[in-house]
Amino acid sequence: MEKKIQISLLVPIFNEEDVVPVLVKRLTQFLSTRTENIEVVFINDGSTDQTPIQLFSVCMSDPRFQCISLSRNFGHQMAITAGLHYVRADEAVFIIDADLQDPPELFPQFYEKLQEGYDVVYGIRKERKESWFKRFMFFSFYRILSKLSTRAFPVDAGDFCLISRKVASVINQFPEESRYLRGIRSWVGFKQAGISYERAARIAGKSKYSYSSRIRFAMNGIYNFSELPIRFITLAGFLSVLIALVYLAFTLINRFIYHDVTPGFTALIFAIILFGGVQLLSLGVIGEYVLRIFFQGKNRPLFVVDKKIIDKEISDGK
Ligand code: UDP
Ligand code: MG
Repeated sequence: MEKKIQISLLVPIFNEEDVVPVLVKRLTQFLSTRTENIEVVFINDGSTDQTPIQLFSVCMSDPRFQCISLSRNFGHQMAITAGLHYVRADEAVFIIDADLQDPPELFPQFYEKLQEGYDVVYGIRKERKESWFKRFMFFSFYRILSKLSTRAFPVDAGDFCLISRKVASVINQFPEESRYLRGIRSWVGFKQAGISYERAARIAGKSKYSYSSRIRFAMNGIYNFSELPIRFITLAGFLSVLIALVYLAFTLINRFIYHDVTPGFTALIFAIILFGGVQLLSLGVIGEYVLRIFFQGKNRPLFVVDKKIIDKEISDGK
């Protein structure tokens, strides 16, 4: 009988032709140091460069490497989601980035925790090799999110993690369309532990996230796990009414006691602009929630698979 696969190493990949050769070398080396039965599952997220060809040749020559090709670019979070549906490990799934910012060599530390009885072991980035501006933004975002969210999220934890088969199966039951996996991973519960590590620089190529896509991703974190933006609107509403009442009292006193006719024009314009702004902002916040309901309501599949190479056999996605 064939040996059961214990661990799946899940790697989402999008246009990483400069990275793949180095990645495959590092992973092959890593595999040779382990005694567990490990498979590597690449998720080709609609790459348009040489990546698919490179992955094809690796997977056709070495049965430890599998590849799931999506029909187009679905984004990092969906690529991982797709991978979680296809991994075959019955013990745990190790999720890493293709650019080797999350070193696969840290696996033993993560695995040790899993064997101690933890179901989720996530990496905590204690140092980053990115610009000070990015570092500042990441630092602030994770702290704001953990304050805003209904559950306390671990700060500075990305998608780099080792999760048990059980947790992977639970995550697979999530139909959420605007996916924020690190939030879902924390939400599912079970025993969780963090391991600090130094986040390396990318080995080659450029980050696939632009500033705007990073902001969109961050917003998914906030809107999917927090009701506070809506609560703030209510608070802003109360405050506006309060300010208006105080202002009214002030004007009446001026009018009837001091017989002072207030010119009021500036105050009027100020009030119109201020409250107009507050209302637009509020609509925007409600819109963010409505948008998420809208897309979720369509109930579309989360991703579409084009081709699979599993155990050196090519097949169409189902
Ligand atoms: N990635 C992906 N689909 C995308 C964008 C990125 O599969 O649409 C992959 C990418 O190839 C990498 C990982 O997701 O392996 C993380 O992306 P990146 O390194 O660009 O993000 P960063 O580390 O800068 O946050
Ligand atoms: Mg990266």
